[in-house]
Amino acid sequence: RPSLYLVATPIGNLDEFTPRAVQILREVDVIAAEDTRNTMKLLSHFDIKTHLVAHHAFNEKESAKGLLKFLEEGKSVAVVSDAGYPLISDPGLPATQLISEAGYPVIPISGANAMLNALVASGLPVQPFLFYGFLGSSEKERTVQLHALAQYPQTLIFYEAPHRVRKMLMSCLRELGDRKMCLARELTKKHEEFIRGTISEILNIDEELKGEMVIVIAGAAACESKDDLLQKALIDVQQFVNDGM
Ligand code: SAM
Repeated sequence: RPSLYLVATPIGNLDEFTPRAVQILREVDVIAAEDTRNTMKLLSHFDIKTHLVAHHAFNEKESAKGLLKFLEEGKSVAVVSDAGYPLISDPGLPATQLISEAGYPVIPISGANAMLNALVASGLPVQPFLFYGFLGSSEKERTVQLHALAQYPQTLIFYEAPHRVRKMLMSCLRELGDRKMCLARELTKKHEEFIRGTISEILNIDEELKGEMVIVIAGAAACESKDDLLQKALIDVQQFVNDGM
């Protein structure tokens, strides 16, 4: 029966591509890829010769109709992105909606995913968590978004590009306070690293923060409440007054 497969691909280490994923990519009629040149490298490494079509983020709705057509012709399609799961901060949602609404099976094929690796190794509470993906690129957007998240009890997970991470962390410090966090970089790769500390400690690191990275930040539930902080501040003021006397 023609089906839509959502196939997770490696996020660095090619040994994390499962035999099932390879088999599915060999067996489907079409692979719809975010970037055909990137996917071509993966396919040639695993000797997969399936027909490849482009499925970019910018014309996803149109492209989804094209993929539905393949299923109507009796063909199975696999959607892949450059790394990790399709749909997770990547293309694939319109196709999944359109094709499932048309009554075809949608079958996820497990694999690597950056946010889960970062979360489990972060040392922060893993449940409940909130995966946000990328914050807005302007400071104004980030302020609005983080302001809304400030009261959330869940551990927060963000994706970020290395050249923007300092600005992003500055916004987090301002809107969320100096919470515990973990910066997980180069997951599954040779230089994988987890940098744990408070937001200000990470911002104080002198060297450039390089590579692909996930930012995990403690939720409001793991922090002292505003009331606690206020109480503490009042005790400090009281102490100051007493000392002065
Ligand atoms: N679909 C992917 C997934 O399932 O994780 C995410 C794709 S998103 C366009 C790319 C972002 O994911 C990067 O900017 C980075 O935040 C994160 N990422 C992807 N691979 C990573 C890795 N190996 N180590 C750390 N972060 C990674």
